[in-house]
Amino acid sequence: MSAVRDPSTLQPGSVGRASLAGLGREGLRAALAGIGVPDKQLKMRVGQLWSWIYVRGATAFEAMSDVSKELRATLAGTYSLERPEIVAEQLSGDGTRKWLLRLPKRGHEMRAPEIETVYIPEAERGTLCISSQIGCTLTCSFCHTGTQRLVRNLVPAEIVGQVLLARDRIGDWPGGASPHDGGLLPAAERKITNVVLMGMGEPLYNFDNVRDAMAIVADGEGLALSKRRITLSTSGVVPQIPRWGEQAGTMLAISLHAVRDELRDKLVPINRKYPIAELMAACRAYPGLSNARRITFEYVMLKGLNDSLADARALIKLLAGIPAKINLIPFNPWPGAPHEGSDWEQIERFAEVVNRAGYASPVRTPRGRDIMAACGQLKSESLKLSARERPIADSGGGA
Ligand code: SAH
Ligand code: SF4
Repeated sequence: MSAVRDPSTLQPGSVGRASLAGLGREGLRAALAGIGVPDKQLKMRVGQLWSWIYVRGATAFEAMSDVSKELRATLAGTYSLERPEIVAEQLSGDGTRKWLLRLPKRGHEMRAPEIETVYIPEAERGTLCISSQIGCTLTCSFCHTGTQRLVRNLVPAEIVGQVLLARDRIGDWPGGASPHDGGLLPAAERKITNVVLMGMGEPLYNFDNVRDAMAIVADGEGLALSKRRITLSTSGVVPQIPRWGEQAGTMLAISLHAVRDELRDKLVPINRKYPIAELMAACRAYPGLSNARRITFEYVMLKGLNDSLADARALIKLLAGIPAKINLIPFNPWPGAPHEGSDWEQIERFAEVVNRAGYASPVRTPRGRDIMAACGQLKSESLKLSARERPIADSGGGA
């Protein structure tokens, strides 16, 4: 039997069997080897599972018509194709959907952790906003997720699982609602055209898992989302930016929010470690930049703090020479937030300065605010247990 690289990534789901949905080729290989598929068949079998799971969106092994009956039965008796469990699904008046998802417990966890995923349909595209961590170690002053302690990093299958689940729910597999009608879904008919790592968590603090997950999402024989349609947003973990460019090569967004260190230190505290000048140097060196491949700079508009016209001009100066897009984000309030959003007139004046400098349509329309699905509003109730609160002995499968 071939070695299982990390068997701990296979957790029994709610049906009591571990899910293969969201695994990479290596994980599928190990799972197949684990039920006795001979070595010389592994490559072919992995290929079959891969296309059923990632091209067709299969949710049952029974549907895999080119897999032998016996193997289908063994697979179904040992594994599942379960997605993250939906705790709640909310539909906003503007078509935005938010899912609260429950993941299988891992290790010490007493309670199954929860995360949020958001789908934002627009005329020209559909964007899926996914989470990379449960909570966040950082504490940006304007962000709701930042008030939730980090519970843990998501593993690749949990990150990919968000994409599978969303495609299930919005009927984004070949044949619409039924994924088993055969045939591929032409790119032009896809609902989810873009993925942004802008949900809960700082993706560059979960580097390897997010990278492996994006490799599955971008795999040309599977979900096949172009890397140019995947955007990682970071608060500015400078040393990881060039690594991400080399190893993942997706589009990049930077949560800038201030143009002076003194203010950015307060709004985005990671700035004390990696100040603006270092961040800008990392951006300038990001591989593959061109006018067609720009870095997005996100800037949340906070009343009286960062929204003066002098700030707007300083912003333009700061970004000079970097192929950049500017995204002005109206502040999305949450209960107890210490900030107030800028007045609409001020956002327009600020945008006008940015516009005149050649940056097109810089204001991001808030989506899904009525269901707390807008940027920075995501927060789940998952709590991290202190060492004292954990079960004394780890029984291996959670409590
Ligand atoms: N941790 C990463 C990605 C998640 S946050 C990061 O910080 O970039 C996604 C985006 O939402 C970031 O630009 C973040 O600064 C922004 N954001 C956070 N809270 C917000 C709020 N209350 N209103 C508007 N945007 C917010
Ligand atoms: Fe974490 Fe990003 Fe929120 Fe900052 S803005 S607390 S980095 S999720």
